[in-house]
Parts: sequence; C-alpha cells; structure tokens
Amino acid sequence: MNDISKLLPGYNCGSCGYRQCRDFAAELKSAEDLHKCPFLSRDNLRGNMERILNLLGEALEDEKIIGIIDGLEADFTLAPLRDECSCREDIHPFDTSVEVEVGDFLRYRPLGCPVTHFAKVIDKTPGSIFTVHMVGPLHRLGNDDFEFKDAGLCMILAFDGKVAKGKVPKVGQTVRFVPEYCMMQKVHSGMVVGVEGRNVRIEAIDLKVW
Ligand code: SF4
Repeated sequence: MNDISKLLPGYNCGSCGYRQCRDFAAELKSAEDLHKCPFLSRDNLRGNMERILNLLGEALEDEKIIGIIDGLEADFTLAPLRDECSCREDIHPFDTSVEVEVGDFLRYRPLGCPVTHFAKVIDKTPGSIFTVHMVGPLHRLGNDDFEFKDAGLCMILAFDGKVAKGKVPKVGQTVRFVPEYCMMQKVHSGMVVGVEGRNVRIEAIDLKVW
C-alpha cells in the first residue's frame, strides 16, 4: 500500500476518517472507499485516482469474493468506469411499447432479481436497448419532482465497468462477478467481450448462477 500512499494528496486533513493519508492507504478495501477523500475527485488528482484504482485492484487480486445472498464465489467485483456513478448496464424491457428518451429515469425489475431498480438512461439504441446508470432502489422517492417511467420486467444484456477486486479476465472468458453497487451483493455471470486495462464489457448476462 506504500505506492498508493504516495498517490494520495498528502494533506493529512483527516476528512477520510484517518489522521494521515498513509493510514487511509493501509485501510483501503474497495474502490468505493476512495470517495471518502474529497480531494481525489478534483481535476488535478483524477489521474492519481485512476492509478490508485489499478494498484488497489492488483493488491486485491487474490482476495476471495463471496456473494452475500447466494454464498457463491465470484471472480471479481465490478466498479464504475472512471468518473461515473455506477457500472453501466444495457437493459431491454419486455414491454417495448414504453417510450424512453435519454435522460429519463426508469423503474424496472431485472429478470432473475427480486429488487426493483431505478436507473437513468444515458444512451439508447434501436431495438429498445437502453444503457443506464443505476441510481438506487429508493433514489429520491417521496420527492415530488422525481418522475420516472415504468419499464416493467427487463432483460439485463450487458455490464460495463472496472474490475475492482480480483483478476482481470480475458476476452471470451465466462465469468462470475458482483457489481459493487448491487443491493443483494448477488453473483452475476456472463461472457467477457471486451477488455481495456481493468475496464471490461460483459455480455450474455445471467442472474441465475448455478
Ligand atoms: S481525506 Fe485525503 S488528504 Fe485528507 S487525510 Fe484522508 S487521504 Fe489524506
């Protein structure tokens, strides 16, 4: 963790809950922890954030990853791509009559998952496939200005994200993974179709892992 320590701001301000940057580095367990340091998201330190994520992933390569809901072992956890709020998911509603535009919020339930999801549409492609960022199961509910469209039951087609804990897979490999934001910490499976550094695209998603 010494290398990670060198990439932290060095202000020793305590905002992360540790008195010194090096103590924070020693306790880092996941990509999400990095958000506790308010300086790493600043433009001048974004490059450091990326390098820390890579070092953290390598340091945690051999860590065992067990899904909480199913107790199954996964190959890796998936964190958001750089500067994004969640992994990207490509989803396809069974009810294709729902009219969806980029920027809309959707409420839907993934096939194979009992949890209702809320997500923001960031892209759409012909054939009713929408790329979304997760905004959480309870995001701003109860707030009058929160409007969403009901997309019903959806197939989850693909994930784009960064390998956080675990080894980076190869293209063509069938993998088990846990999206870091998954409320159920459920093991998902799929086939890796693209790898760039620690960024991966996984398709043929199946939420029933046997
Ligand atoms: S918040 Fe950032 S700068 Fe401050 S002590 Fe923690 S790691 Fe160092």
